[in-house]
Amino acid sequence: MRVVILGGGFCGSMVAKRLDNSGELDVILIDKEPYFEYYPSLPKLTTDPEYHEKIIKRYSTFLEDVEILTEKVVKVTPDNISTTERKIDFDILVISLGADYPIYLDNKKNVFTVSSGEKVKELSKRMEKASDVLIVGGGLIGTEVAAEIASKTEKNVTLVHSHERLIERNPKMASFFAERYLRSKGVRLIFDEKVVDREDDEYVTSEGRRIRSDVCIWSTGLSFDRSLFRGFGDPCFTERNTLKVNNHLQLKDHPNIFVGGDMTDIDEEKTGHNADSHSRVIADNVIRFSKSLSLKTHSNVRIPLFISLGDLNGLISFDPLAIPGPVPVLLKHLLEKAALLRL
Ligand SMILES: Cc1cc2nc3c(=O)[nH]c(=O)nc-3n(C[C@H](O)[C@H](O)[C@H](O)COP(=O)(O)OP(=O)(O)OC[C@H]3O[C@@H](n4cnc5c(N)ncnc54)[C@H](O)[C@@H]3O)c2cc1C
Repeated sequence: MRVVILGGGFCGSMVAKRLDNSGELDVILIDKEPYFEYYPSLPKLTTDPEYHEKIIKRYSTFLEDVEILTEKVVKVTPDNISTTERKIDFDILVISLGADYPIYLDNKKNVFTVSSGEKVKELSKRMEKASDVLIVGGGLIGTEVAAEIASKTEKNVTLVHSHERLIERNPKMASFFAERYLRSKGVRLIFDEKVVDREDDEYVTSEGRRIRSDVCIWSTGLSFDRSLFRGFGDPCFTERNTLKVNNHLQLKDHPNIFVGGDMTDIDEEKTGHNADSHSRVIADNVIRFSKSLSLKTHSNVRIPLFISLGDLNGLISFDPLAIPGPVPVLLKHLLEKAALLRL
């Protein structure tokens, strides 16, 4: 039986690892990059691009029997998938292509996202010559990036956030500590405004404020591209274009297609931890499905979120509490090592 896994991120790489050497299954992993990349450490690359080498692991070093294709997936249908190079039929499909991080500006020159090592290395290079840095979005990524840059460089950092507090999906206490930290590092914070336009190196907010900046880091959230999918009915998608799954993580109306990670419509934070817990259920269910056994069920387990604020400070956020200090950042560092070591 042929199993095709699309995307080797938090979910896909662990599904591949768990199915490696599984005997009867012929497994193919397709990713546009030849390596797994630990995204939670990307903010660190803004000031230390060399660190990239430490947060990637090549698939060929931890997969023995899985066929690895370094190709871009361009089309997914209920029967086969296409990459830039070929068309592949499958018996079972695992979709774990993660999220997109779109930039909502026409002129994207010197505007970057923190969504892959290569993009952040490009940003870091551009930042060398910059004195003013604008960060758009004060969620998890924007806040961590602002802390990283403000704590390690002399740049003038401005952060514009469309909500009344930073990391607003976290407890108020977490927002308070994050805001206090960023202000202590001289970050200029602008709340309840959106960046809606740009004229040369001036960025215009919804309130008409103009902010000059050499570099802009866009971190306003996730989106999902439905155009990749053909021949799937509307009921497979939510309004946000995430994929609807049942509690066995099967795509609606397509029992031989499993979906994991950020792309699912499950009502939970889109985190590496959740994508990893999907990978466990999916790997088991792929084997069970191939043997016509009953399938395992995914259940949500909330765990604390570790937020880093530079190298020495961070936050543990677990509703309704938030604990600041050096321990969260140390734990986050250990999680990075553990995630790469177990592959
Ligand atoms: C900057 C940043 C910081 C984060 N911090 C944290 C954190 O502190 N804690 C936490 O738990 N989570 C964090 N997250 C979220 C976490 O990384 C994601 O929830 C997780 O990576 C989702 O896993 P996934 O398997 O769904 O997709 P991903 O890990 O995004 O993997 C998707 C894979 O698909 C590949 N791919 C995409 N499109 C194609 C295509 N067309 N063709 C071929 N390959 C393709 C990509 O190369 C990638 O390898 C962070 C994310 C970012 C970007």
